[in-house]
Amino acid sequence: MSDSRVSPEFCFDEQRGDLFVARVAVNYLTTDCVATLEYAAAVLHTPLIMALGHESCGAVGAAIDAVDKNRQFPGHIQSMASALAPAVRAAKTLPGERFENVVRMNVIRNVDKLRKQPPILSKLVEERKILVVGGVYSLKTGEVTLVA
Ligand SMILES: [Zn+2]
Repeated sequence: MSDSRVSPEFCFDEQRGDLFVARVAVNYLTTDCVATLEYAAAVLHTPLIMALGHESCGAVGAAIDAVDKNRQFPGHIQSMASALAPAVRAAKTLPGERFENVVRMNVIRNVDKLRKQPPILSKLVEERKILVVGGVYSLKTGEVTLVA
């Protein structure tokens, strides 16, 4: 997530030198993101990766519009909406609030992709040298709920 209201350091009360952060709106996986996380894992030996989504995510709203209303966005924004489309579709049949379900589903899908991401992350996960988890940050409470 790139949201200005949510800083990972702030979410977890961390200081300089504590977190290695790769940020992209709606936390979808790009080659650059994966490269950053591979570097953190293989070179810096970070023991934990967390994919973090957040409530009231404007980009999730855009992705839902892209699927439901077949809306097209200008420039490269469409690739972000398209990256979320599988999560939007997967959340369609879930009970409960759709928007929250899409946020959660997107995090769950990204955690799964990261755990299976060859060649570095999948190997480290298999060797139990790194843990990949997912959370959703609440802007209202400031709490992170683990979802994967
Ligand atoms: Zn967001």
